[in-house]
Amino acid sequence: MSNLAYDVAVIGAGVIGCAIARELSRYRLRIVVLEKELDVGFGTSSRNSGVLHAGFNYTPGSLRARLCVRGNAMMEAVCRDLKVRMNRIGKLTVAMDPEDVPTLYHLLEQGKENGVPDLELVGSDRIKQLQPGLDGILALYTPSSGIISPYGLTIAYAENALDNGVEFRLGTHLDSITRIDGQGWSIGTKEGARLASTFVVNAAGLFSAEIATMAGCTGYAIFPCRGEYHVLDKRLDGILKTLVYPVPKKDDPGLGIHVTPTVDGNILVGPSAEYCSLPEDNACNRDVMDRLRQEASRYLPGIKVSDYIRSFAGVRPKQTPPQVGGNKDFTIAEAEGLPGLVNLVGIESPGLTSSPAIAEMVAVMIGRQLKLKKNHHFNPERRGSAVRFCELPLHVRTGMIAKAPNHGEVVCRCEGVTKHEILEAVDNPLGARTIAGIKYRTRAGMGRCQGGFCLPRIVRILTEERGWQPESFLERSKQSVLFSGRVRETSPQSGLEHNRIRVANGGMPE
Ligand SMILES: Cc1cc2nc3c(=O)[nH]c(=O)nc-3n(C[C@H](O)[C@H](O)[C@H](O)COP(=O)(O)OP(=O)(O)OC[C@H]3O[C@@H](n4cnc5c(N)ncnc54)[C@H](O)[C@@H]3O)c2cc1C
Repeated sequence: MSNLAYDVAVIGAGVIGCAIARELSRYRLRIVVLEKELDVGFGTSSRNSGVLHAGFNYTPGSLRARLCVRGNAMMEAVCRDLKVRMNRIGKLTVAMDPEDVPTLYHLLEQGKENGVPDLELVGSDRIKQLQPGLDGILALYTPSSGIISPYGLTIAYAENALDNGVEFRLGTHLDSITRIDGQGWSIGTKEGARLASTFVVNAAGLFSAEIATMAGCTGYAIFPCRGEYHVLDKRLDGILKTLVYPVPKKDDPGLGIHVTPTVDGNILVGPSAEYCSLPEDNACNRDVMDRLRQEASRYLPGIKVSDYIRSFAGVRPKQTPPQVGGNKDFTIAEAEGLPGLVNLVGIESPGLTSSPAIAEMVAVMIGRQLKLKKNHHFNPERRGSAVRFCELPLHVRTGMIAKAPNHGEVVCRCEGVTKHEILEAVDNPLGARTIAGIKYRTRAGMGRCQGGFCLPRIVRILTEERGWQPESFLERSKQSVLFSGRVRETSPQSGLEHNRIRVANGGMPE
């Protein structure tokens, strides 16, 4: 071990950075994770389809093919240990037109070469059996495909890494990185901190090329490519039995617009694929939204306008410019002539699926240069449960309420989230500090009313029970202040004075 404060500094707490930090915590290393946002998983890792890909879409021998198949196979054990929701519901890649059929045969062969298990071409009757009401000429069925909670997985990796000794510095934005002669790396942050580490793992997603360039590497570039989604109401839970994808078109930057059930019972429609100029341009556009609705009605003819409850977007960190399109393989490489720097650039889909395998690979790369000694205290299991309180049998819930009455107070009616779960989300050692962080940990605000009912209740609980000041409530970032303070108002009806919290943007007070 060197004299530097850290052995490994991981830049970026997305699913990749957190998976790597957790994997490295199996060894006796001093590890720090730097994340510019106030929570883990606030980048691309919380803005995707949440699909566990099988691995037939990728060129044989590529990192994407190898790491996806391996990651898919590892995911069962990872999710069991980390108490993350996943479900292998299988996937149909459906040819609607005869011209798509040759691509399906190609994908079948490619999948076999990549080692994807149990691939099967199925005809129209079997398609209907697997997904009632779905028309198609031929489909590739992959039972190893599935769904997973993307933010659930990211938070779980991070919490387990923290439990195993990893330090997380959230709200810490790397803005300089320089080589210390023959020893390691010096990192500066916008917040004024400076730290030194023998290894740096650049897992900064959309900013990974920028950081690699800052460190002295050449030849990296990211071309952001946005994918927009609609979220459908849970009323439709159960109508999709499996994942339904179109046959991908050559040079398409994505896999085509599809309908995806989530582990929490919603359905996602999307994603689109449009290059954008800013890396974090997560805007949703009217024309894209209209196009998604048209596509959705092809697969799910019965959906109503009122079933669309929300939209969101995520941005792919593409290495291919718009004029080239298509996809390039992941770059996971030690920087040439710059020992101790591992760059992960262009980790677009299937990055979520590949995350445990990528983490394993990075640990091997570091292990080639540093003698890795086992951390005998490493505990692979995360505390808690993948089953939510509202899903437990009545007698179990009754018993828990008797022991801890906060279980008995429902805060979010749509998602059945209790006061106990809200407090647990903020009291956790890697506790949520924003409304979005609470939402990802508990699902409060993710239901049909989108927080209309529960937000004032969450505010009351945290001001009364944890002493949060109204001005400290943030939606997601340091800039997204929710309230500007308290005001005293006189009710025109009763003439009584009320102490209210004022909404920062001048909207309705609590
Ligand atoms: C539309 C879409 C759909 C997708 N669907 C799937 C899917 O179904 N299945 C699948 O397997 N994969 C999917 N993916 C891919 C998957 O989401 C990504 O591969 C994965 O989330 C990448 O994780 P990451 O940790 O590399 O990046 P991120 O999650 O973006 O994390 C990078 C982190 O680095 C931080 N950071 C950046 N710069 C700095 C800095 N200077 N200092 C400190 N921190 C910094 C960021 O704030 C961010 O939190 C999809 C992606 C998109 C966009």
